[in-house]
Amino acid sequence: GWLLGSSVLLLILTTGCFMLMLTTILRQKKLAEVKNDFINNMTHELKTPISTVTAAIEALLHFGALKDPVKTNDYLTISQNNMHRLSDLVEKVLNLAVEEKQELELYPESINLSELVGTLVADHRVRAVKPVNFKLDIPEAATVSVDKVHFGNVLNNLIDNAINYSEEQVVVRMNYRQEQDGWQLAVADNGIGIPKVYHTVIFDRFFRVPTGNLHAVKGFGLGLAYVRQVVERHGGSIRVTSEPGKGSEFILKF
Ligand code: ADP
Repeated sequence: GWLLGSSVLLLILTTGCFMLMLTTILRQKKLAEVKNDFINNMTHELKTPISTVTAAIEALLHFGALKDPVKTNDYLTISQNNMHRLSDLVEKVLNLAVEEKQELELYPESINLSELVGTLVADHRVRAVKPVNFKLDIPEAATVSVDKVHFGNVLNNLIDNAINYSEEQVVVRMNYRQEQDGWQLAVADNGIGIPKVYHTVIFDRFFRVPTGNLHAVKGFGLGLAYVRQVVERHGGSIRVTSEPGKGSEFILKF
């Protein structure tokens, strides 16, 4: 009896240890894979705009493109777009560094939401890669208390995603609503949508929906993690409602 009891106990203990080791190894492997993917993505993402701009400058300086006003305009436009892309990427990586250290300092101030969104939308129009129909429903008097830089980044991330994960005839709607216990802002698109199983994990760092068009849209899966962090640091919450093929709506509540 005693021998059987202790053997069973030993067996349970060994199995337990083994399972624990296995899950740790698996978790580390997953993390290593994720980090590897991230570095590969990032290298690729940073190299592409740099080599495009380098090629454009080369064409202008050494291959006579400067003599042709149309070509000059084209190459400069390409360079400008790529520099915008590069600066977005640097911004994202900087945000990541901030997140890593967990020291997201907020400086909330009273902001006119309609003005802020107006500026962001105008910026998007300048660097637009495809035509976007913005439908804004934000009262001119709507004033909110937020950190202008981080909150602006939040909206930029949501707008970028809305555009990037939509195929054509992009419509981005932004609605503000004053509620009894606070206010809410929704950013909605008519894009590819997100299957329900991913509605919570999309806010995890590095997560990208595998069924989405991963290769057409370049990204690190960091945007929404940053968005959620900023929103929560403001005492707010974020959730998504979405259906594949119909579109997505990200709802921020404060
Ligand atoms: P990234 O866009 O760099 O991959 P995000 O953290 O911003 O990273 O988004 C995570 C994932 O959530 C995206 O890869 C995409 O699969 C999905 N996603 C985010 N926003 C949308 C959207 N508006 N429509 C469809 N899918 C989206």
